[in-house]
Amino acid sequence: MRGPHRVAVAISLIGIAFGSVVIGDGGTIGRTPIVVVIDAGHGGKEPGAAGQSGVLEKDIMLAVARRIALEAVRYPNLCIVLTRMDDRFLKLTERIARAREARAAVYVSLHANAAADGTARGVETYVADKAHDEEGSRRLAEALQEAVVIATGSRDRGVRSASLYIARASMPAALVEVGFVT
Ligand SMILES: [Zn+2]
Repeated sequence: MRGPHRVAVAISLIGIAFGSVVIGDGGTIGRTPIVVVIDAGHGGKEPGAAGQSGVLEKDIMLAVARRIALEAVRYPNLCIVLTRMDDRFLKLTERIARAREARAAVYVSLHANAAADGTARGVETYVADKAHDEEGSRRLAEALQEAVVIATGSRDRGVRSASLYIARASMPAALVEVGFVT
């Protein structure tokens, strides 16, 4: 996976843009902060995908999530809430509950792909089937996909839909596969 720093900046900016639309403050500095929940996929007993070098999806996603939180310090109207800040297992329902408690405007789940073919590259973003906010989620996914593809210079594998737990999020929600650990 290339450019975690650039991925973090891209996602932070999309968070601001989207949150502004959702909460309708036009992104004005000094107003109510836009809460963006960043969910680092997996954790604890659930490692996610593994690369040949032994690198684990759960660790990379935590690093990217932390980087987003650091980047966001530069944007006073953006408040990043991480579902986990360390290597711990969280149920999917707990992740969604955290977003609800934080009154998040946007929910972004971070994952990485794995493929038997080690040359597989690229970024893809998922919208949940039957998403609570279907239109908002699709627009969020399209914006994230474009931004992360530009930030990484990686292959555009497109916006896809799947049956995902993020359907339960009441705010626009998307899941980004930011690259391949393989
Ligand atoms: Zn994953």
